[in-house]
Amino acid sequence: MRKVTQQHTKEHNRNLTLKTVFAHESVSRAEISRITKLTRSTVSDIVASLVAEGLVVEVGVGSSRGGKSPILLSLVADARHVIGLDLAHDRFSGAVLNLRGKIRQRVDLPAEGVGGDAALRLVYKVLDKLVRSANRPLLGIGVGTPGLVDTRGGVVVNAVNLSWQNLPLRQLLQDRYDLPVAVINDSQAAAIGEHTFGEGYTPESSLVVINVRNGIGAGIIINGQVFHGVGGGAGEIGHIVVVREGGLPCRCGHTGCLETVASTRAVVERARMMARHVPGSVLAESPDTIGLDSLQRAFANGDPLARQVVLEAGRFLGLAVSVIVATLSIRRILIAGEMTRFGPALLDSVKEGLAQTLFPRLIDETRVEFDRLGHDEIILGASALLLNDYSLLFKGQPAHVKRAS
Ligand SMILES: [Zn+2]
Repeated sequence: MRKVTQQHTKEHNRNLTLKTVFAHESVSRAEISRITKLTRSTVSDIVASLVAEGLVVEVGVGSSRGGKSPILLSLVADARHVIGLDLAHDRFSGAVLNLRGKIRQRVDLPAEGVGGDAALRLVYKVLDKLVRSANRPLLGIGVGTPGLVDTRGGVVVNAVNLSWQNLPLRQLLQDRYDLPVAVINDSQAAAIGEHTFGEGYTPESSLVVINVRNGIGAGIIINGQVFHGVGGGAGEIGHIVVVREGGLPCRCGHTGCLETVASTRAVVERARMMARHVPGSVLAESPDTIGLDSLQRAFANGDPLARQVVLEAGRFLGLAVSVIVATLSIRRILIAGEMTRFGPALLDSVKEGLAQTLFPRLIDETRVEFDRLGHDEIILGASALLLNDYSLLFKGQPAHVKRAS
């Protein structure tokens, strides 16, 4: 029993030290000791083992505050690599990343209209290529997928676009690659990516990423932890009813859901539907060919129809977001996904929507911005799930490296 506790303390101290090294570009042993409150000799022992593992390296001499100049330590960013996968687009994208989230290899394969077993085979194809290309020990594979995900069990409960129901994705990938695997909803991955690799966050920050594509989801980080909710369903805001009367039918069976007015698909469909009734619009010339790109061009040129449908979508988004802001008292809202192409005017319309329901004080305190990481944030967030588990750094050289070489 005593031995177990000692082992536990040792790991805890080691993880604290690693966390401090991860959080700094470079840091001295004395600073680590000050930050972690571990004794100097404990820190020295841990650092010696981290250097032996190749995870930490001495990078030079820092400035002295009197006495001997301290030696600075830094993380060896390429000591281990990790794989991140994004299944949320019409391309499956994956990457091999280093410990600082820098992409070293990437693979993109077209996935439009792919579902069921074919989608799974495509996942294998992307991963086979990435695993084969890896030239460092791999910590594991993180997957960001659309749909409802039981992250604890590693099961995709329901992903409509991929035609997956109760797919034990983690188990399947672990069996195939002999690596630790984490599976998470795409919006939650985006939020983790933003929190881990975006700027201006502390480990205890709270934020919400609103991911707008054909569907709409939210990734919620509370005090630095992703909030999954019961059964992993937290952040399913796409089906909040925002149109009370005369709403359009939604794929979920209700009418007037947020997705029917604010998703990219909805915005394009509304523009096509309304084009004939707004004769002054350039889009009225051939309504059937309206897509996001032509809508964006028209929007930039001040086209009345484009502005109407896009800004209305933004206001509806704001309305739904106000529910989250008021409930969780989170002040940092990031809009991600395809609608970001409409720029600051879209943000203003989201704020307008917020203002319809929130207290003025809450509105002033709430920041609504676009995400910073752009299209790689799901890959980054999925991989961060594994990076945050420091124990994986010490698993030794797994079998796949031998297989792949
Ligand atoms: Zn719905």
